[in-house]
Formats: sequence, C-alpha cells, structure tokens
Amino acid sequence: RNSLIYVNGTFTEQPTIDVEERGFQFGDGIYEVVAVKAGRLLFTRDHFNRLENSCAALRIQHGFTYQTFEKAMNELVEKTHCENGMVYIQVTRGTASRNHAFPSPTTVGCCYAYTMSNASSAHALQEGKAITLADIRWLRCDIKSLNLLGSVLAKQEASESGADEAILHREGIVTEGSSTNVFVVNDGILYTHPANHLILNGITRQYVIKLAKEAGHQVVEEPFSIQFLEQADEVFITSTTQRIRPITTLNAKKLTDAPGSLTSKLQQALQATILNELN
Ligand code: PMP
Repeated sequence: RNSLIYVNGTFTEQPTIDVEERGFQFGDGIYEVVAVKAGRLLFTRDHFNRLENSCAALRIQHGFTYQTFEKAMNELVEKTHCENGMVYIQVTRGTASRNHAFPSPTTVGCCYAYTMSNASSAHALQEGKAITLADIRWLRCDIKSLNLLGSVLAKQEASESGADEAILHREGIVTEGSSTNVFVVNDGILYTHPANHLILNGITRQYVIKLAKEAGHQVVEEPFSIQFLEQADEVFITSTTQRIRPITTLNAKKLTDAPGSLTSKLQQALQATILNELN
C-alpha cells in the first residue's frame, strides 16, 4: 500500500488508532473499494451512493457530500501517485468508551482511506477456480460492513483447496462469492441472485446486468441452486478488483478451458464502459 493515509480530512503517514475506536473494537463501520485506472477513480458516484446506504443502514454519520468525498479521494490518489490500483475507504462510528450501544450523538465518526497500486490495471481474466461452501454470514449482507469473518473463513478455505473464490450457498441456494457476485449463463440467459439482504449489490454486478440487457440478453434476478450452477453453460464472478472473472474449475472439476461467449462479450463491454468513463 502507499504510505500516505487520509484520516478525517488530513493526510498522514502515521495514523494513530485508539484502542476504543469502534471500527477496530466492534467492526462498527462500513467500507468501500473504488478502482483507480490511469490515475482516475472509476464509478465514484455509484460507490458514494452505496457508502451512503451502508452508513444510513447503521445510522453512522459520514459527514461528506458527494463533492467533498470526490475531492478528498481524488486528492488522495494524486498525493499517493496512484496510477492503477484501488482506494480503500472505511467509515466508522468513531472512538468512545467501550459499550456496545451507540455512543453519544456528539461522537464524530471517522473516515480512513488509502490507496494500493498495481503494476498493471485489471485485465480480462481468462480462468478462475471456485469451490462451493455454506454461507454462514449474517442476514444483512446488503450492508458493506467491516465484519468480514464469514468471508475471511470462506476465502481461506478456498485458498487452502487451491481455489480463487468460495461460492456461497444457503441450503443449496447460491447467494454470492466471499468477495464477488456470482452469475451463470444458460441458453444465452443470464442468472444472478436478486439484490436483497442476502447479497451485496455489487457495482460491477449492476453494470453487468445493464450491459447484458443492452446486448439483448434476458437477465433473471432469481435464486438458483448449486445444481443449476454446476450444469450451467457459463459461470463467472464479478467485483471491482477482478471485474468479470470466468469460473473454469468448480469443486476441482474442470468446467471449460476458456471463458464462455457471453462472459467474453461482457468482459469487452465492461472494458469499453470503463474506457468511456475515462474519456
Ligand atoms: N459481494 C461481496 C460479498 C463483496 O465483498 C464484493 C466486493 N467488495 C462484491 C460482492 C462485489 O462488489 P463490487 O462489484 O461493488 O466490488
């Protein structure tokens, strides 16, 4: 990561975190990850809207307007000379004497942000391995909360079995990946879990749905089973950092050698959308 950190309107290389910072102590906060390409933030408005929704759901005051948010994050990208990579942003309920219930309304929330640079920008990934696992997370996965233990344990299990992602299910119904949304294609129709309390409504997910519809494909936002996933023509996952990644191996079984035709088409369409946004 780059050394300069944004903390509530100031930039520092050595931020101090109080032991009673509620993000640190209770995971009492939310986060966002915004991609940086050619020194520019991508889809900032979408990420800000989701940050606002997450804060509203937890009754956390973030103190930004869209304009002040955009200005602060652009300043961070510039000051850290981040060309390609991401900005990590977290907003917490701030620091107060330890007590689960909210502190007094005068307690100021805290926003921390930093950038991470990648040697090259995310490209259209050609392969991906996933395993299926039980979804043990809470029932408000629509909030981008700092509490990520369910995702941490799932990703670790994927990693230990040589996979890139864990595709989660509740009683056989596929919800999403540990840090991605999951799509399957059957007969040219795109399927994904509806955006309710069981998944995070990914920004990439929303663009993929829009692009598929624009290309004339039917999109079905309905729950589907693991069997449906296993027998699909194409499977892919989406996120800000991985964009559209085909799943070519599922539970150690090879599904295909190359990304499917709709997967490739959507990868190209998303790339075009990103380049357009930079113009
Ligand atoms: N689902 C979960 C659980 C995630 O953590 C993420 C990425 N943070 C996503 C989906 C993908 O969201 P986005 O496309 O906005 O990065």
